[in-house]
Amino acid sequence: MSGGLVTLERVTKSYAGGVTALDDVSLTIGRGELAAIVGPSGSGKSTLLNLAGTLDGPSSGTVTVAGKDVARLSDRDLSRLRAAELGFVFQQFHLAPGVSAVDNVADGLLYADVARPERRHRAAEALERVGLGHRTGHRPHEMSGGERQRVAIARAIVGGPSLLLADEPTGNLDSASGAAVMDLLRDLHSGGTTVVVITHDRDIAAALPRRIVMRDGKVVDDAVG
Ligand code: ADP
Repeated sequence: MSGGLVTLERVTKSYAGGVTALDDVSLTIGRGELAAIVGPSGSGKSTLLNLAGTLDGPSSGTVTVAGKDVARLSDRDLSRLRAAELGFVFQQFHLAPGVSAVDNVADGLLYADVARPERRHRAAEALERVGLGHRTGHRPHEMSGGERQRVAIARAIVGGPSLLLADEPTGNLDSASGAAVMDLLRDLHSGGTTVVVITHDRDIAAALPRRIVMRDGKVVDDAVG
């Protein structure tokens, strides 16, 4: 399919209280891209990522993911689209405490209609892919921050998503662990996954092929190269 994997057309998102988090944003993310979203706190980056990931809907305008107008999908089709196409990574990892790495990752397949033994098998493979094949039985509190984020990435990719959305994935990590996480995202991108990363880190952003710059709910710059 040509065209965008994600397309926002004239998207506005307002919250109760009169905040306009996104103000008439039009944007296309193509298949195979690796893009940074940058901008000051409160400029609308997370809102943009959440709309691109179908976690929230626009107040006006259209969001299209993998050729589908998100607003026209039933809840069931939306769940299917998320399970088939999307993976999320967050600054705070959001792993279940007291649950082994392999079971945390297997949870990423809960909505993918895969039986439990197969979920665990694929989870172990995904942990292998992020370099944690030796940590499958460890629980989050037994791992470093960098390892926890790699578990979270394994959970995000276990369903084979075409689009990986990461909201400040290195924000809670020391620079060496953050660099390892970015290397991993680059590897996934090289393997064909489209990756969009919110970052405050100028060096990380500068090293990525596309930088989408937000301010006051608008895209104020969009630089490639
Ligand atoms: P960023 O990720 O760049 O820090 P956000 O997208 O989180 O920006 O927020 C953009 C604006 O929308 C901010 O003014 C923020 O306070 C507001 N906002 C975000 N989420 C909500 C919400 N659930 N309810 C009300 N206001 C929100």
